[in-house]
Amino acid sequence: MKPVLQYPFPEVPAPGQTIEIAPGVLWLRMSLPLALDHINLYMLEDVDGWWVIDTGMRGESTRAHWESVFASPELGGKPVKAILCTHCHPDHIGQAGWLSERWHAPLYMTGGEYFLGRVFCSPLSDGPLWEALDFYARAGASQEFLERMSKGGRGFSAMAEPMPRSFHRLNHGDTLDIAGHRWEAVVGRGHSPEHLCLLDRTRGLLLSGDQVIPIITSNVSVMAIEPDGNPLADWLDSHRRFLDEVPDEVLVLPAHNTPFRGLHARLRHLLSHHGDHLRALEAACVEPRTAVELLPVIFKRVLGAEQFSLAIGELIAHLHHLMAEGRLGRETAADGLDRYAATDPLRAARLRDGGNGAEEDTLMDFEAQAV
Ligand SMILES: [Zn+2]
Ligand SMILES: [Zn+2]
Repeated sequence: MKPVLQYPFPEVPAPGQTIEIAPGVLWLRMSLPLALDHINLYMLEDVDGWWVIDTGMRGESTRAHWESVFASPELGGKPVKAILCTHCHPDHIGQAGWLSERWHAPLYMTGGEYFLGRVFCSPLSDGPLWEALDFYARAGASQEFLERMSKGGRGFSAMAEPMPRSFHRLNHGDTLDIAGHRWEAVVGRGHSPEHLCLLDRTRGLLLSGDQVIPIITSNVSVMAIEPDGNPLADWLDSHRRFLDEVPDEVLVLPAHNTPFRGLHARLRHLLSHHGDHLRALEAACVEPRTAVELLPVIFKRVLGAEQFSLAIGELIAHLHHLMAEGRLGRETAADGLDRYAATDPLRAARLRDGGNGAEEDTLMDFEAQAV
């Protein structure tokens, strides 16, 4: 069952425009050349300038959009004084380097996100690498996919400017005073390694980035850069921790979709959504299966080629979580393919026959590169 959420701002900001969410808190929106076609950015007014929260993707149109925002009367002629990125994905950090140069404004991020962003932006990450080919081949990817990948793809650097050369670290629990408002750093994990949210407890506002989004489901993927990762454990832990640490009443300001109330209902829904996927996958592994064979278990719609690496990454994240819980085992057969099988086939068969399947599809929130 889907949770009942409230959306107090039915209109979205037009290009170049802002909507005031609370005094000194502006919402703006930029387009993305992806299946997910937009990102929400926010600006916080300080006494001597504006904080920019996330930056949009690389590209002339994003810059032009920023320039029209800078010229708008809502900014009152104040400069950008700081840039804060919630995490290292290109729709969030894509213009951080340009904004930082444009305003000589410092960048604030967590350490985990800053350094991974620097790695993704390096030319090393753009080339075809045997590690990635091995990772997707073991999952059962088609020859066509592997050949395309071996030619090298559109790299991360096409989507993000080089990042600023220095940063200011924010850790979980740190606070920022912005025009007398106390914003607390709340870190979540799983969608990215050390995702930063900002919480203003007094006014009940949570800048949630991609950590909590009301309608689409953030991608949680194992990627070739860490082929044995278990990001779903981090993701589920973070959701439970947010239920404890962040009040239900907050107005959530996400990076995609629109601002909403109903944080705890959304978190609980996501916990049960992934729980459904985990049970459905265990049930599908009464006999050994490759990751590609299992895709239809959690992705009901037909996947485009560009979505394959995100979909297979998310699927493997669920399989690794089941392995960590002792519910699945994995063997690499003579054909070079990894196959996953239930450690307790009787339990898996009971789950299968009980029809406890996944009910909701997952949507991707950015185009990952291969490594
Ligand atoms: Zn993201
Ligand atoms: Zn995003």
